Amino acid sequence: MRTAVRRRSLTVPLADKQTAASGVDALPPLREVIAAYGLSARRSLGQNFLLDLNITRRIARAAGPLENATVLEIGPGPGGLTRALLEEGANTVIAVERDDRCLAALEQVAAVVDGRLHIVAGDALSVDVNALAEQYGMLRVVANLPYNISTPLLIGWLKKLSLFDRFVLMFQSEVADRLTSLPGPKTYGRLSVAAQWQCEVKPLFTLPPRAFTPAPKVSSTVVELKPRAHPLAEAEPDLLEEVVAAAFGQRRKMLRAALKGTFTDPQAVLTESGIAPEARAETVSIEGFCALARELARERARMRG
Ligand code: SAM
Repeated sequence: MRTAVRRRSLTVPLADKQTAASGVDALPPLREVIAAYGLSARRSLGQNFLLDLNITRRIARAAGPLENATVLEIGPGPGGLTRALLEEGANTVIAVERDDRCLAALEQVAAVVDGRLHIVAGDALSVDVNALAEQYGMLRVVANLPYNISTPLLIGWLKKLSLFDRFVLMFQSEVADRLTSLPGPKTYGRLSVAAQWQCEVKPLFTLPPRAFTPAPKVSSTVVELKPRAHPLAEAEPDLLEEVVAAAFGQRRKMLRAALKGTFTDPQAVLTESGIAPEARAETVSIEGFCALARELARERARMRG
């Protein structure tokens, strides 16, 4: 196994996608890697591995073309998706993994791709994406995310959106539904507004539990988020977040009641923004929330004198 890796790593020329792919091809199958390194899945780390090459390839292709991309992969685990990204020609993959048990398996991949894979051992929630973007340029995040931190990770990235050119991410389908929801259903909420205000958000495909090892309880969906050239409507991010949090914090209440703690006269503000004071949060468009955030900016400015 190790001999094959070494031999291939010496023969892979740098910029040749086909030959570089054959270096990855020569690696042992993922199931063998998992057995060899004792990578029994840990629920606490959200470990549901993808071992089917057709699926990892499909995700990598959905994120392409990758030749000029710097991919940030969160949670490479045993390296299935990592391999697919490299085989699809990713210029650079920065793979952030918290589980030290996976590092040797990942080093094995790094050994055959001529410096295109950078392994970062640590917690993705504390990775300095500013520093990465400074060093590598725009980042494209492609990942089968650990489900327990998928939302905080995405919220953090949305706050630094200028560093990213695209996201292709696997979420639990229930989270994907919230990300992509239009106003109306119960799925529409803070996450829908936060994501769609700044990104075009599209579900790409859904996978059943059996696609993963071990199988989770629920299905998962790959979602693409493409940063918009401009947000859907003008608003200060903090004020938009404040208004949306207040509105959805009491989502069963009419907005004139839910926004009592936010505006001095919510009824007047809602009317001024073209929103019925009796409406509930889940019926308000993102543009409507932006109008409320602009009203809040005006009210705060008046209060400051
Ligand atoms: N990419 C692999 C695949 O598709 O087979 C594994 C995906 S698995 C759903 C999530 C991965 O994220 C695991 O490898 C897990 O160890 C890793 N992980 C969990 N929490 C993490 C964190 N805070 N920072 C970085 N990686 C983390």
